[in-house]
Amino acid sequence: MINDKMYALGSQRSEIRELFEYGKKRKAEIGEENVFDFSLGNPSVPCPEEVNEAIVSLVRSGNSVSLHGYTSAQGDKGVRDAIASHISRAHGFEVSGDDLYLTVGAAAALTCSLTATVCPGEEVILLAPYFPEYKVFVERTGASVKVVKCTEGSFEPDVDAIRSAITERTAAIIVNSPNNPTGAVYSESSIKAIVEVLNEKSREYGRDIYLIADEPYRELVYDGVYVPFIPKYYDNTIVCYSYSKSLSLPGERIGYCLVSPRAHEHLRVYLAICGAGRALGYVCAPSLLQKAIPYCIGLYSDLSVYDKNRQLLLTNLTEYGFEVVKPQGAFYLFIKAPDGNSKAFSEEAKKHELLIVASDSFGYSGYARISYCVKTEQIEKALPAFRALAERLGLCGE
Ligand code: PLP
Repeated sequence: MINDKMYALGSQRSEIRELFEYGKKRKAEIGEENVFDFSLGNPSVPCPEEVNEAIVSLVRSGNSVSLHGYTSAQGDKGVRDAIASHISRAHGFEVSGDDLYLTVGAAAALTCSLTATVCPGEEVILLAPYFPEYKVFVERTGASVKVVKCTEGSFEPDVDAIRSAITERTAAIIVNSPNNPTGAVYSESSIKAIVEVLNEKSREYGRDIYLIADEPYRELVYDGVYVPFIPKYYDNTIVCYSYSKSLSLPGERIGYCLVSPRAHEHLRVYLAICGAGRALGYVCAPSLLQKAIPYCIGLYSDLSVYDKNRQLLLTNLTEYGFEVVKPQGAFYLFIKAPDGNSKAFSEEAKKHELLIVASDSFGYSGYARISYCVKTEQIEKALPAFRALAERLGLCGE
């Protein structure tokens, strides 16, 4: 006997992975340079040199027993304190190392936060379109997802719809801004409106509703747009952060949960996250990467490349007649399927060797996601294929 649910997860790849694997096969057939793979959110910009230098100097420090040893389950105290001082300075909001639990990236921060705050039979609100793994992470806890669509066009949260979706069984809501897949950055007024609803509903149902702020793209913003720091607005917030995108380290698996010091049951929530990490078998976040982080605080990969890619796509795809959502952050462009059929659009794009993910896997139909965290040359070379696709779909003249 095996666990059928786990078998299903392991045997069916996500649509994003499916397309990525197709791309690998196709590249072997027709040459790497002839396939325009926009499927994955794997950063193309190298990490800052200081990250490599920190890792090398730690390895050369001669202290390999403690360097490679287990740390405290919640992470090295000095590392947590250093991250906490940075957060306090950057956001003008005092947090301490004891509010932080270091994790194996944002994915583990999410599974720990959800496992800690959500019980079987409860509900978690997801704002569509959403990162597909949320559904997997929520359902593993025995809870179910309740999907609330964002407002078409701006892709800001629809606060009235959130109000109607909350029931006495709502344990948490996941808010992801800057957003994957739309690139939207939720405005301060949207955040304040969500907070008002959560406070109202928490009072009505006599329970704390947790806001899980998934923020791996926090620093990836354009045109100086402001990303509200949610713990300032809502007490029962857990921030899930990761260095995967900001430092281009997705394979190294390092991030954290920050339990707001103002959370009503702060210590209980924090200890429940420690318990979740234990139950999930994480033990501790990778020691070498933990210890490299204090040397890299305040550093980011060169994000100007993503901005250049964004501008290039925005200008040209609009000119070809496509409707796109202007991204304010992250490195994804949401493009409308001209006839509303996202699957058919993605399939048609494939015929032009363009690999873009149909939006249905993000819980939203009618669009596709273009991950533009690729080399600028790939976009330049792909533009004729996008033009040909537009012509094929009757958007611009041949
Ligand atoms: N949340 C969102 C919205 C993401 O896009 C991703 C990865 O692409 C993650 C979480 C997982 O990030 P990590 O690699 O840090 O686990």
